[in-house]
Amino acid sequence: MAAYFQCPGCGALMRDQEDAVVLVCDHCGSTLTKYIPEKKINVQIKDVGKGITEVVQEKQTTKRRAIDAADEKDKRDNRLIVILFALCLLGAFLPGISSRIDEQKSAKLTKLVQEIEEDMENGRYDTALTKANRLRWDGDDDDYQAKWNEEREELIKLIKERMERDANH
Ligand SMILES: [Zn+2]
Repeated sequence: MAAYFQCPGCGALMRDQEDAVVLVCDHCGSTLTKYIPEKKINVQIKDVGKGITEVVQEKQTTKRRAIDAADEKDKRDNRLIVILFALCLLGAFLPGISSRIDEQKSAKLTKLVQEIEEDMENGRYDTALTKANRLRWDGDDDDYQAKWNEEREELIKLIKERMERDANH
């Protein structure tokens, strides 16, 4: 059964709305705060307060998430810049570094060839052969690999020829 309140402004009847604490008059717009037992008010206020807290927290969390996401993006951008910068530096220095390493490797192998030739001159063919087998380019550069494979095969061939020649004498 519907309940009615009398409007404090114009005296019209205001139909009760069960969930509303405040009724608004359809005729004059006056408001009427319904009598609610104390216990019920407390519960409602508490609920309203909880609702607001939840909404505020939710908004703060959303805002914080948005800030975090922005920070994370900034961090990512910064990392990307650092990586790109490092790659540029590497790109600028890598050819220099790698060519110096290649020079060092070449020098080491060239020195080995000199030792082998010396060993051959002194008739140390076994030593020369062992050393000749070590004439391998330590790297994945095909040109260098081919060059030193050729050098090795030629030297081994030469050493064997000399061994044979000396054996026949
Ligand atoms: Zn009214």
